[in-house]
Amino acid sequence: MEFCDCGGLMLPTSAGKMLACSKCGKRSKTEGGTVVKEKIVHEKRTTKRATQEIVDTLPMVESDCKKCGNKFAFWWTEQTRGSDEPETQFFRCTKCKTTRREYT
Ligand SMILES: [Zn+2]
Ligand SMILES: [Zn+2]
Repeated sequence: MEFCDCGGLMLPTSAGKMLACSKCGKRSKTEGGTVVKEKIVHEKRTTKRATQEIVDTLPMVESDCKKCGNKFAFWWTEQTRGSDEPETQFFRCTKCKTTRREYT
């Protein structure tokens, strides 16, 4: 038996492939007997995660990596401290992915 987020009982619709909440009417698809609830898209994105996602499209700059000797690094800035503080520059080696920060 499946229950809706609102606490209502999920009942199969006449079509059979969907479940509908008896209370609020919300529908969800059934897949192999299990209910796949509609993904609610309001994930709270942390700064760290956003950085991870955009890192591949970051500009590359010439920067010597002390670890592997690579000459290029991705570059970006972040407000890591208070908003009245200067931004921190980050360099991530394109080869060994070592990230180092430089305070301006
Ligand atoms: Zn409901
Ligand atoms: Zn490196």
